[in-house]
Amino acid sequence: MVGHRVRTRFAPSPTGYLHVGGLRTALYNYLFAKRMKGDFVIRIEDTDQSRRVEGAQQNLVRTLEWAGIVADESPERGGNFGPYVQSERLTVYGEYCTRLLEDNNAYYCFSTSEELEENRQLQLKQGLQPKYNRKWLPEEMGGSMPSGEIRRKLEEGAPYVIRMKVPDYVSVWFEDMIRGPVEFDSSTIDDQVLMKSDGFPTYHFASVIDDHLMEFTHIIRGEEWLPSMPKHLLLYEFFGWDPPKFAHLPLLLNPDRSKLSKRQGDVAVEDYIRKGYSADAIVNFVAMLGWNEGEGTEQEVYSLQELIDKFSLERVGKAGAVFNTEKLNWLEKQYIKNRPAAQIIDTIRPILVEELDKKESVMRRETITGDSYLSQVIELMRERVGFEHEFVTFSSYFFFEPETYEEEAVKKRWTPETNDLLREFMTVLETLQPFTAESIEAALKEFVAPRGLKAAALIHPLRILVSGVSFGPSLYHMLEVLGRETVFRRIERGIERIVVSD
Ligand code: GLU
Repeated sequence: MVGHRVRTRFAPSPTGYLHVGGLRTALYNYLFAKRMKGDFVIRIEDTDQSRRVEGAQQNLVRTLEWAGIVADESPERGGNFGPYVQSERLTVYGEYCTRLLEDNNAYYCFSTSEELEENRQLQLKQGLQPKYNRKWLPEEMGGSMPSGEIRRKLEEGAPYVIRMKVPDYVSVWFEDMIRGPVEFDSSTIDDQVLMKSDGFPTYHFASVIDDHLMEFTHIIRGEEWLPSMPKHLLLYEFFGWDPPKFAHLPLLLNPDRSKLSKRQGDVAVEDYIRKGYSADAIVNFVAMLGWNEGEGTEQEVYSLQELIDKFSLERVGKAGAVFNTEKLNWLEKQYIKNRPAAQIIDTIRPILVEELDKKESVMRRETITGDSYLSQVIELMRERVGFEHEFVTFSSYFFFEPETYEEEAVKKRWTPETNDLLREFMTVLETLQPFTAESIEAALKEFVAPRGLKAAALIHPLRILVSGVSFGPSLYHMLEVLGRETVFRRIERGIERIVVSD
C-alpha cells in the first residue's frame, strides 16, 4: 500500500453503551492508525432504526474521549467525509444498490416473513443450512421468476428487500492480518439482504460502501464479523474495488472461557467508570486483551503513548482473551501508586466537598480540603486503596469523626486499665514537641517500657479511638497528619463511649 496514508475506523452501532469489546476494537484501530502516523475515524452505524437509542452516539464519543481515543475527523473537527452517520447517507447507498441491480448482481425479493420462516423450517428439517430459496431470482439471472411478475409487484407497490446474488461456484479467500489465510465455501453463503423494506441498507452493504468511499486501508474488528467476510468480499468484487486489509480480533472470554457476557460481570465501559476505574487502567487493561509486546518483556503497565509506540497487529493473538477483573484491579492499584498527588487531588477534592456538604465535619473544611492535608492523606493511603474515590470513602476518618468502634477489636484490645493508661499518655502527648510520627513513636515507647507493657497495649486502642477501625496506615503517621487537636478530641470522646467492664 505504498503511498496510502493509513486510515482506520471504529464503527459502532449506537445501541446505548460502549461495550468493553467495542472499546478494545476502537483502541486497536486508534493505536494502529497512530503508530502508522495515520488517521482514526468514528463512523456511527445506525441503519437498524429499531435498535436506535437517543443520545447513544454522544455517549459513545464521550466515553471514547474519556479513554483518550479521539477521532481525527469528526463533525466537530470538520473532516473530508463528516459527519459519519450512516442514516444521513441513504442516497449514497441507494445509488450503489441501483448499480448492483443494473449489473444483475442484486435482485428484488418480495417474499414475506412468513414465507421466509416456512422455508427456513423446511430446510432445517431437511438438515440443510437455512438460506434464501431464491424464489424471486429473475429468469435472466438464472432463477425462475418472470420479469413481468417482478414489474407487476413493483407497480403494485408491494414491500420488498433487495438481495445480493451470490455466484454459484466461487471460492472466497482472503488473508487476515491476524489469522492468516481464510477460505470459505460459497455454498454456505446466503443471498444477503442489502436493502431492507424500510429503505435502509443492512450493515453489510452500508459498511462495505463506506469503507471503500471513506478510503479505509485497514478494517480491524471483532471476530464475530469473520463469517460476514465472503459477502463483503463479493460486494468489493461486484463494484470492482480493491478490498482493504482485514484483521479480526480474538473473542473476549469470561474467566471460565465462555464468551464474555453480562451475566458474569459488567460489560459496559460506563459501569467501570462509575465504579471509579481510571482511563489509564482501563485502556492499559483493554490493550492487553489480545495483544502483548512479545516474549521476554516483563512490562505490564503501559501509558497510551507507550502503547502507540509499541502496538502492532502481528502481536495480536488468535486465541480468545480472558477478561480478568483481578488484573484490572491490580493495574488500577499500580496507577494509583504512581500517580502524582496533585492529579489525585483534582479527582478527590470534589468528591470530598460533596461529602462535606452532605455531612458536617467538626474538622476545619479549609484544612482538610487543602492541598497540604490531602497530599499527606494520599501518601499514607496510596498503597491501601483500590480506587481514587476510596481516598475519601475508605479513609473517611481523615475527614470525619468515627461514629462507631469496631466491636470485636475493642473486645480484644481493651483491658480494664486501658482507658486510664490512655488518659495518662494524653498528658505526655499534650506537651510533646514537635507533634510528629517520630516523636510520638519515641514518646509511646518511653511511656510503656517502665510500666512493663508492650507498645501494642497502646497502639491498638489508639488506632481504634482515632479511626474507629483496627486497620490502616502507620499509626504514628496517622496521628501526625490528624494533628494534636483532633487526636485529643477523638481519644476523649472515645474513652467516654468505650466503657469496658471486667
Ligand atoms: N457496526 C458494527 C458493530 O457494531 C461494526 C462492525 C465492523 O467494524 O465492520 O460491531
